[in-house]
Amino acid sequence: MSRSFNEKQIKQIMSMNNAGFSKKLGQNFLTDFGVIEDIVFGAGVTEADHVIEIGPGIGVLTSEIAEYAGLVTAVEIDKKLIPILKQTLVGLENVEILNDDILKTDINKLINEAKGKNPGLKNVKIIGNLPYYITTPIIMKLLESNLPAESITIMMQKEVADRLTAEAGKKAYGAITLAVQYYCTIETIVQVPADCFVPKPKVDSTVLRLDIRKEKPVDLVDETVFFEIIKAAFGQRRKTLLNCLTGYKELSKEATSELLSGLGIDPVRRGETLTIEEYAVIANELAK
Ligand code: SAM
Repeated sequence: MSRSFNEKQIKQIMSMNNAGFSKKLGQNFLTDFGVIEDIVFGAGVTEADHVIEIGPGIGVLTSEIAEYAGLVTAVEIDKKLIPILKQTLVGLENVEILNDDILKTDINKLINEAKGKNPGLKNVKIIGNLPYYITTPIIMKLLESNLPAESITIMMQKEVADRLTAEAGKKAYGAITLAVQYYCTIETIVQVPADCFVPKPKVDSTVLRLDIRKEKPVDLVDETVFFEIIKAAFGQRRKTLLNCLTGYKELSKEATSELLSGLGIDPVRRGETLTIEEYAVIANELAK
């Protein structure tokens, strides 16, 4: 049963509980049930899934996920919202509410504990309408924690989604594009205009599903070197690759130029024109 609310009802629920919408915590709640359905269907939630929801707010998405999932663990940082969630989600036995900061939560522990108690749970999926102010740190934490998760379906500011899905050579292409594309393949689920939320944010949003790759797209000798050179290459976007990489591992300009030319990569190209495969070739050469 859906428990979505319109704008008026959400404002009423918040004021009855003396809770304001915290701008700092990115509290823009969904009012459009169609979008809620798109997220849950887009994530492909089934009974065999343990879904971890980031930032349930007042639970509009949570209740719809609970319709289909085996278990939902909803992690909400704002303690003001916990009593509201207990009311809006009352009677849903497959929902656990956790008052915590997702950036500090031991997600692996959550997953293992849930599996111990519910052997029927076969997959882990992560879903969230993310607070815009920490979208990138949350995505990177999820990807770097090596979670046994199948996918991460998340709503984010449209411009961030454009960065994640950008191709080499495009303006939106950056270090975060390469990091996410290294760990995942990406599907766009739906574009969401600002008027689907209360309060209305200043930006439009996009829902992406990041499917965690079972095999990485490139073979690396040392992941750290790969991410370090990407960081260096995008550190100063207007500089050439030669200038950005000179000094890395104490390489002189001449040695850097020779190394890049030897790999068939023009040293005066800019970092934003290189593909993930080209970064892998440079990283593997430097890791030798
Ligand atoms: N899921 C709800 C919806 O779609 O209507 C609310 C989404 S709202 C954009 C983001 C939610 O994330 C807010 O409820 C906010 O309090 C919560 N939040 C912000 N920072 C968080 C963090 N570090 N950890 C967990 N939740 C957080």
